[in-house]
Amino acid sequence: MTIPCPYCGSHNTTQQFSSNRNISDFDLDAQLTPTALATLGAGLAKSQGVSPIYGGVAGAIVGGVCQYVVKKKHLTDLKTKMIGYCQQCNNSFPL
Ligand SMILES: [Zn+2]
Repeated sequence: MTIPCPYCGSHNTTQQFSSNRNISDFDLDAQLTPTALATLGAGLAKSQGVSPIYGGVAGAIVGGVCQYVVKKKHLTDLKTKMIGYCQQCNNSFPL
């Protein structure tokens, strides 16, 4: 199924992902790894007089949830960034 080009009306169009990806999301990914948060949680628990194991486990869980949310957000972003591209007049257009 092709979508007609809004510029020239040609059906010679393709659908593709927009290359405009948010780079800051990748930074977030790198910082919110379960390992990093587990280390953070262990350190925090230690400073509060709690066993580092509990802090580490809590940090790993929080990190896992954060990564899940971030990844889900990425998928949503990708879906909304699908664009149409006309091979006839070389224009791209939102779908
Ligand atoms: Zn066109």
